Amino acid sequence: MVRYESVLEAVGGTPLIRLTRGLPADGPRVYVKPEWLNPGGSVKDRAAVSMLRQAEQDGLLRPGGTVVEVTSGNTGIGLAVAAAHLGYQCVIFTSSNISAEKRHQISAYGARLELVDAFVPKDHPDSLRSHAERFVAQTPGAWLAAQYDNPANPRAHYESTGPEIWADTEGRVTHLVSTIGTGGTISGTARYLKEISGGHVRVVGADPLTSSYVGGDGSQKAIEGAGHFVHPEATVDIWPTALDLDLIDEIIPVADEDAIAAVQKLATTEGILAGGSSGVALAAGLRVAATLGPDDLVVILLPDSGRAYLSTYFNPKWLSDNGFGASDEKYDEADLVT
Ligand code: PMP
Repeated sequence: MVRYESVLEAVGGTPLIRLTRGLPADGPRVYVKPEWLNPGGSVKDRAAVSMLRQAEQDGLLRPGGTVVEVTSGNTGIGLAVAAAHLGYQCVIFTSSNISAEKRHQISAYGARLELVDAFVPKDHPDSLRSHAERFVAQTPGAWLAAQYDNPANPRAHYESTGPEIWADTEGRVTHLVSTIGTGGTISGTARYLKEISGGHVRVVGADPLTSSYVGGDGSQKAIEGAGHFVHPEATVDIWPTALDLDLIDEIIPVADEDAIAAVQKLATTEGILAGGSSGVALAAGLRVAATLGPDDLVVILLPDSGRAYLSTYFNPKWLSDNGFGASDEKYDEADLVT
């Protein structure tokens, strides 16, 4: 029996689901971990609750306070869930480029959405980050979660994601595959799995081709949430301290079109509807799995659901408008969320 006394207790505890379609019988077992089964719909619920609880403990966030974050959406959703439940104000700074579904979800919890679309380096006064920092400086009781450098972000995964994978594979996991955004998910999960396995679990990062984590030019492409991107005029590319590269054995670059193809196939062959960054992890994970044998067990973390991207990666019109294959007129009515 599973019963929770509040929505926040329902964060974590996602299952593993085995992939069976199109995989060789003599290959490794491949499981995905569908993180959209968290209450806000993504892996970032774990970090959001962990950061918020730590801020309360540290006295940085008090009753009547305001939770603030700069996010590509999912951390904002997780914080909006927790803020709604605990009675804090919540202000989320993001760009109108994120999927409409994620923007609408943040608003649905009563959080305030501040859209900042200036295309400038992070330290420019018009950047998203500068806007958020100014807001926090001017608002008494405001707390900036700062997921890129907040130790409570990777710690959430050290304390929950990692132990869940170890328990649910009965210690048989040999490979972990995860995308890298802030690096919190991969670093915390990897640290736990490396420690408990005595270093036997191989940790594979997966990122969009253009991400500076994989030596790309840093230009932002279609996949939301994964990768590290820098403005062409930025003078420095500062990587988050939430990311611990020492724990990652290999980082595999994945083209946007391969990520999108991977999640489209996952939906139509397995009946599992995952988001674009899940496609990055999946494409990389299947590449790794193709080199392994029956004694191996691969776990691929899928950060969020395809339901957050029905207007984009699963919308033929959006795909064609963005250079990902032909449009099919009969599907235009599927573009319901704008
Ligand atoms: N995928 C999606 C859809 C995300 O929103 C995020 C968070 N930015 C990630 C992957 C990466 O997770 P993390 O920040 O823990 O590296």
